[in-house]
Amino acid sequence: MKGERLVETSNVAGAYPSLSERYIELLSQRGEKRPIRPRDVLVREGQRERDFYVILSGKVAVVEGYDDAAGKGRVVRVHGPRRFLDELSLLTGQPSFVTFVAVEPGEVLAVPLPELHDLVRQDPSLGDLILHCYLARRELLIGSIAGIKIIGSRFSPDTRRLRELAARNRVPHTWIDLEEDPSAEEMLRQLSISAQDTPVVIWRDKVLRNPSNAELARVAGLRPAAEGEVTCDLVVVGAGPAGLGAAVYGASEGLATVVVDAVATGGQAANSSRIENYLGFPAGISGADLADRAVVQAKKFGATLNVPAEAVRLEQSDGDQVVHLDDGTLLRTRTVVIATGARYRKLDVPHLAEFEGTSIYYAATLMEAAFCQQQPVSVVGGGNSAGQATVFLSAHATAVRLIIRHDDLTRDMSRYLVDQIERLPNVEVIRNAEVVDLVGDHGRLRALVVRDDKTGERREIATTVLFVFIGAEPCTAWLVPNIALDDHGYVLTGPEAATQANGAGARQPNLLETNQPGVLAVGDVRSGSIKRVASAVGEGAMAVRLIHDYLARSGRTTGQQPHLF
Ligand SMILES: Cc1cc2nc3c(=O)[nH]c(=O)nc-3n(C[C@H](O)[C@H](O)[C@H](O)COP(=O)(O)OP(=O)(O)OC[C@H]3O[C@@H](n4cnc5c(N)ncnc54)[C@H](O)[C@@H]3O)c2cc1C
Repeated sequence: MKGERLVETSNVAGAYPSLSERYIELLSQRGEKRPIRPRDVLVREGQRERDFYVILSGKVAVVEGYDDAAGKGRVVRVHGPRRFLDELSLLTGQPSFVTFVAVEPGEVLAVPLPELHDLVRQDPSLGDLILHCYLARRELLIGSIAGIKIIGSRFSPDTRRLRELAARNRVPHTWIDLEEDPSAEEMLRQLSISAQDTPVVIWRDKVLRNPSNAELARVAGLRPAAEGEVTCDLVVVGAGPAGLGAAVYGASEGLATVVVDAVATGGQAANSSRIENYLGFPAGISGADLADRAVVQAKKFGATLNVPAEAVRLEQSDGDQVVHLDDGTLLRTRTVVIATGARYRKLDVPHLAEFEGTSIYYAATLMEAAFCQQQPVSVVGGGNSAGQATVFLSAHATAVRLIIRHDDLTRDMSRYLVDQIERLPNVEVIRNAEVVDLVGDHGRLRALVVRDDKTGERREIATTVLFVFIGAEPCTAWLVPNIALDDHGYVLTGPEAATQANGAGARQPNLLETNQPGVLAVGDVRSGSIKRVASAVGEGAMAVRLIHDYLARSGRTTGQQPHLF
């Protein structure tokens, strides 16, 4: 970093404000002042346990790939007096994705995390400020080239799997496309990695060849090592809006709460680039942002999140519920909230498997948009998800074809989306139509064959990326045979579950309770639920109230100390 002009980074998007005198005084009461000299490392890439730092004088650089011996690395940002360091991973317990190195002599204030938690409980405005900045910084970090590197072809299903896992979990990462980036091959040659070994994940001194989801999750600090058996009051399975709702209310109301999710926090909502109908966000909020906020909130109250971790079985043992995870961990708990939502439905067309891993998507976020630049794309589906995707993709693709099976766009789509779509010059709505085949070469989609359901006529529509939003199926296979399901596989609750409740004269299940006492279902996975973010969150909150009733009735006590930020 020698010779570089280390000018303080501007306060981009309000992410790097200077702390007021009052906040610095408050923090000084809880922290320790430490002198810094150039090349002192405050926090290292990969370091999990760390203090909250405020710069009192001098300058600190945020560096990617810092080499201690050479004192070099790529400077991402530079901060001066009154600024505080770090980003969201400090609060979520993830390792740091960058190194903080002093570049000018001065002094920092180091505040241990428990002291910070205590302080923000007394002065929530400081907590709000830090949280706001950390969320903005994560956004900026994701957009920068810091973090994990994934090298692989855009046509490799494994590259896509790893990118999706990183993107859905908001892990800062850079994707180096083997097809497009001339530096990629050279980088692989230097590491003696052949193209067959790709995708490759590189972070710090680790090089993982085509790692599994669990391996990547561990490297990114998402998933703690398996613990054998864990005991708690409440296990929430699924961390979509419903599960996160249950986690926040459960943990804040004194239940020892563990949350697991097979993929990432946020569920289907995280696939939405803008949710416009969630109370309190008149300008809309992205599903990922909403999920990040909920995760920090759940952790603040002491919930333990374990992601990615899939529940594979639920059984009863000695009056407790036991949730089995895919890595063999057992979660023994008094109560369970099933919040596993639903999974997208696939098109029933020939050649689907050929293009699935490379050209077909079931979400439209910035990650997928990267594949659509200057490309013609198509969206299949007539609901709000398809409508949102169409509006979003129109800003990235050359042309968007929205294919619906009927002729009335307003039938299943909200008026505000229909209005937007009708005004977009590069969107064409193809009505009364059905996709009947996919055309392309070597796993790369070139066109869709679409049939007009009125005339029977078939035509090809140029499409390199296809987005499918044709509804979803409940994620309930892991509940069979213990939990009663309706004819479509959704979980029965309340009076509907009563006929299946265990034992003669069994008690009537409460509104959200399944046939198994102490096991509740909320959100999209529940039979008869309203498929909306707000109702999912509401049911999650309600479930906790009903769990308290259940525990009181069954004479069980709960116990944990709410803690954290
Ligand atoms: C693209 C898109 C846009 C949308 N836009 C809006 C909108 O603007 N407004 C609105 O109100 N609604 C919207 N919705 C609907 C809304 O997202 C859903 O109603 C809501 O997410 C349901 O929440 P949930 O928590 O019940 O389930 P999900 O969101 O489906 O979450 C379920 C979670 O459970 C996990 N899971 C599944 N099985 C297991 C298992 N065995 N073990 C562990 N974890 C498991 C999944 O990985 C997932 O994270 C949209 C949906 C989509 C797909």
